[in-house]
Amino acid sequence: MATLNLNYDKLQAGYLFPEIAKRTRAFQAEHPDAKIMRLGIGDTTEPLTSSVIAGLHRGVDKLADVQTYTGYGAEQGNTELRQALADRYRGLGVSIEPDEVFVSDGAKPDSANIQSIFGVDNIVAVQDPAYPVYVDSNVIAGRTGQWKDGRFQGLVYMPCTADNGFIPAVPEGKVDLIYLCSPNNPTGAVATREQLKTFVDYARNVKAVIIFDSAYAAFISDPELPRSIFEIEGATECALEISSFSKEAGFTGVRLGWSVVPKALICENAEAGKVHRLWNRRQTTMFNGASNIVQEGGLAVMSEAGQRECAEMVAYYMKNARTIKDGLETLGLTVYGGVNAPYVWMQTPNGTSSWEFFDKLLNEAHVVGTPGSGFGPSGEGFFRLSAFGHAEDIEAAVSSIRENLAL
Ligand SMILES: *Cc1c(COP(=O)(O)O)cnc(C)c1O
Repeated sequence: MATLNLNYDKLQAGYLFPEIAKRTRAFQAEHPDAKIMRLGIGDTTEPLTSSVIAGLHRGVDKLADVQTYTGYGAEQGNTELRQALADRYRGLGVSIEPDEVFVSDGAKPDSANIQSIFGVDNIVAVQDPAYPVYVDSNVIAGRTGQWKDGRFQGLVYMPCTADNGFIPAVPEGKVDLIYLCSPNNPTGAVATREQLKTFVDYARNVKAVIIFDSAYAAFISDPELPRSIFEIEGATECALEISSFSKEAGFTGVRLGWSVVPKALICENAEAGKVHRLWNRRQTTMFNGASNIVQEGGLAVMSEAGQRECAEMVAYYMKNARTIKDGLETLGLTVYGGVNAPYVWMQTPNGTSSWEFFDKLLNEAHVVGTPGSGFGPSGEGFFRLSAFGHAEDIEAAVSSIRENLAL
């Protein structure tokens, strides 16, 4: 008799984007002439850059010739690409070996899969609000209880509030796995070295493991801010890092990411080397490697020309972030983020709830954003606006907000 994993029934976050789509459709049906402007989606919109396109073409052409054809590659990824990524870490003053880098089909799958190498009785801490997959993958794995009063029982929520600059304090009790995302989706906050050090110190103390998502590292312009958890001394003993080509190179649909699992990483029942070996085992067992065409594109991203072009694309999105932030500030709204991250996190005015503000913004300005409460209980009273649009659409949306939003 087959049975289902009923932990799936506990999931809540699947509600957010369908609900946004439903309310947007209903508004459009009632106002067929309204031009709806979308600042809600965390998806890139600019085309791939020329060197990256050339790299992808190269990948295709190699498959056309018996001399250069390749089938299955190493599950851990193309050697040259792993080397290029290790070199990038070296540029940050961090020593990572190429075989500590695991190329993948993206940071979301890695974020979802990484929990599977840890015990089911581990206590999990997440930033609140957070990118939903950290929570949901652990709910599915059975590391939480039921959803009750807006929270999963058994999960440790680390509140990210205006008071702490949206970077939480370390948990008060003992936890085992800690998910951190910096620059943060949805708040746009970036942890300083000192803030990350408090987490590294905590984790080393209690033998916890930090799962650090650096998918937005390329959006940091402040040279003082860390782009990798491994910039913090001692982090290779207590942290692994998950990252992606999606946002820095526009690979959201192309699919390429990587994880760094240092050999020095330890936990309660694993000496140095074992966590690394287990992730290697997980990947070689369950994954057959990222596409060889796409990895050729990834190598092009890592080339000098690719890095220059991608930096321009990032700058383009960050100019959008500035447009959003400045426009909202002119209205006297309180906004956070948007400086070293492509998300602007605004406080909803006059105590409106996140969903009330969603409806208000849609009705009055015809702009769609993302209610903060969809990312966790501490997101209530906040609203996320994304800079990943075409500049002219962002400008039109901001003008409409300035002209039509009644405050
Ligand atoms: C977009 C995003 C990613 C990227 O995921 P991919 O699967 O590589 O596209 C990872 N983490 C966060 C927080 C994100 O917002």
